[in-house]
Amino acid sequence: MIPDLPPPTLRLRLDGEALAANWRALDRLSGSADAGAAVKADAYGLGAGRVVPILERAGAKTFFVAHWSEVPAVLRHVPAAWLSVLHGPLRSDDARFARQAGVRPVINSLQQAALWRDSGGGPCDLMVDTGINRLGLSMHEIGDPLVTGSEIETLLSHLASADEDVAQNTVQHKRFEEAARLIPARRRSLANSAGIALGADYAFDLTRPGLALYGGVPRPELQGVIRPVAYPQTAVLQLRALSPGDSVGYNALFTADRPMRAATVSLGYADGFLRCWTGKGALRHGEVELPLLGRVSMDLVVVDCTAAPTLREGDWLDVPYDLPAASQRCGLSQYEMLTLLGTRFLRA
Ligand SMILES: *Cc1c(COP(=O)(O)O)cnc(C)c1O
Repeated sequence: MIPDLPPPTLRLRLDGEALAANWRALDRLSGSADAGAAVKADAYGLGAGRVVPILERAGAKTFFVAHWSEVPAVLRHVPAAWLSVLHGPLRSDDARFARQAGVRPVINSLQQAALWRDSGGGPCDLMVDTGINRLGLSMHEIGDPLVTGSEIETLLSHLASADEDVAQNTVQHKRFEEAARLIPARRRSLANSAGIALGADYAFDLTRPGLALYGGVPRPELQGVIRPVAYPQTAVLQLRALSPGDSVGYNALFTADRPMRAATVSLGYADGFLRCWTGKGALRHGEVELPLLGRVSMDLVVVDCTAAPTLREGDWLDVPYDLPAASQRCGLSQYEMLTLLGTRFLRA
């Protein structure tokens, strides 16, 4: 028998108040439209099991995942009719699963429409491609009888560049209006987080925020509106004294030029703290910044804790996760910073 595990040395604190406040703010900014929630990729790495019930209590009634494998974690907390699967059915097994679970597939092509019809049909969502050219029916396919014969709950399209002020946004908006005129659907949905900030025109009946729910700020309009949600923390495993000439980590990228105190910390690229932080990052102990020394390795980083003389082995350090600022600093996108957070973090 394997005994109960001891508490891990990584934990991912979630500010549930901030998460709920972000959803309410995005719902308000959506005007007369309802805000749903993109909870794919385990709620952007924060843990669907924690995130979905909080959003449900805040008032969200429409949820999106990408994979069929992501359905069960969400269905533990909300009715199946509230959940759509963005990738749609690739094989008949997928269609069978959707029907048995009672969740809606997002139909992305005529092939998927045929597969869904042949499996028995029923309510589905439909994604139209208005210019991102990833998934979705092309504009010239929307008159097909497979489409007009479908029972479409939500007509979707997805913006490619909503985080920028570019002409593509208005082009996609226009095409979506045209598609909505031709395809009967109960609801229309175009905007992701950044799209919500583009204004009321983009909200239609339902918005689909993801990033901004979790503290990401894709456009300046959301600055000061969206609150941070994710707070990763890591424990100090060992403290050591460095003498002038001592080097730290793989390939000896850092060499001490004076006596220093260093902390070896339980955090590495396997946890999503990638090597792009090498030479740039700092962890924090309270208000004290502890700069990274040398290379980030798989399970460990070393920080300079000379400025924190009271730091002890086992103490918790904060990993900088103010998403806009941290993303600027390390070069990863805000999306990557969230979804990279590894499985060794306790999400409780
Ligand atoms: C991920 C996703 C969203 C959410 O986008 P954010 O930029 O994270 O707000 C909305 N719609 C679709 C189709 C998506 O794939």
